[in-house]
Amino acid sequence: MPQTLIKVDLQQSPYENEMIHNRWHPDIPMACWVNPGDDFILETYDWTGGFIKNNDSADDVRDIDLSIVHFLSGPVGVHGAEPGDLLVVDLLDIGAKPDSLWGFNGFFSKKNGGGFLTDHFPLAHKSIWDIDGMFTKSRHVPGVNYAGLIHPGLIGCLPDAGLLAQWNKREKALIDTDPERVPPLAAPPFAATAHMGKLKGDAKAQAAAEGARTVPPREHGGNCDIKDLSRGSKIYFPVYVDGAGLSVGDLHFSQGDGEITFCGAIEMAGWVHMKVELIKGGMAKYGIKNPIFKPSPITPQYNDYLIFEGISVDETGTQHYLDVNVAYRQACLNAIEYMTKFGYTRAQAYSILGTAPVQGHISGVVDIPNSCATLWLPTGIFDFDIRPNAAGPVKSVSSSSDIPMSPDVE
Ligand code: ZN
Repeated sequence: MPQTLIKVDLQQSPYENEMIHNRWHPDIPMACWVNPGDDFILETYDWTGGFIKNNDSADDVRDIDLSIVHFLSGPVGVHGAEPGDLLVVDLLDIGAKPDSLWGFNGFFSKKNGGGFLTDHFPLAHKSIWDIDGMFTKSRHVPGVNYAGLIHPGLIGCLPDAGLLAQWNKREKALIDTDPERVPPLAAPPFAATAHMGKLKGDAKAQAAAEGARTVPPREHGGNCDIKDLSRGSKIYFPVYVDGAGLSVGDLHFSQGDGEITFCGAIEMAGWVHMKVELIKGGMAKYGIKNPIFKPSPITPQYNDYLIFEGISVDETGTQHYLDVNVAYRQACLNAIEYMTKFGYTRAQAYSILGTAPVQGHISGVVDIPNSCATLWLPTGIFDFDIRPNAAGPVKSVSSSSDIPMSPDVE
């Protein structure tokens, strides 16, 4: 049996667990050490550290202080790892915590983080998804049931001081272009809610003041939210500090490309069984700046899709120049509109795009002035036939069901 090197107690605050942290900083001490070739298990909190509950109210999604996230397990030190190496991580298996066989999906209020379609869904919503072995379904979103594509939303190694300084400098410069924007352009360091693992006293205070927030993906990987980086994948991470310092968290039972609802996938607490190896000097040998990975040999088989096109003309009819973000938004909105014809509310349809294994593709980026993005909706996740036909759509979902929503409080 592989050793469980980091354990989490879901009844305990993550702030009381020294093997958890929620910022990136080179001074965070290693939580534990392993050797190249070792395999081991790390347990993780869900990304909010248990703040979101399994109930029928979205008040917790509305009220969460997002400066507390993401609670990560680690850093794991690897003996012999040095800056410039590649850390090779095999995700041997991933699962939900046996005492927590459920996950959540949410849309944040526009005033508290927002999301990809926040102008269309400005209020907090939450749906709960039950985990039945390898399958999931939701009491808030009837008519769908699908296999999990289980992956860590967030995994990466500690930055060195120089890389951390670059991150903070370039993200501050972006924030300074529009400091009052709602939602904000980026998340700057914030010491008050920083959890720096085993770090104590003055050293902790200093590191907390400059520790990078865990929200964006960066050169080290981090919060990439790639659904295909799933159990069975092999990942090659750049190493920046002695020991590498690998951390993981934000496990997802399933997610669509783009994690478009932002609280975005089916978020869960769980465990990761992994194995580490080193490629000495691998960053220069292979010219690697950002992580690369090999996907899993096993993925859910959904081979039939309805594919929605979107172009870079926005909801107001304004023309944008080859903007794939606008094009993907249109593809998502087109899919949502289509699903409402089968009885789904717009919020239910949005949550399906956030949680199910939908694919997003950048289909064209050269045909001026429009880029084309496509949203691939798997037909096999539905209990009914979602394809168009001459007879027209059949209302297949009860209009009495919806997902919980909480209005903003002034
Ligand atoms: Zn997540």
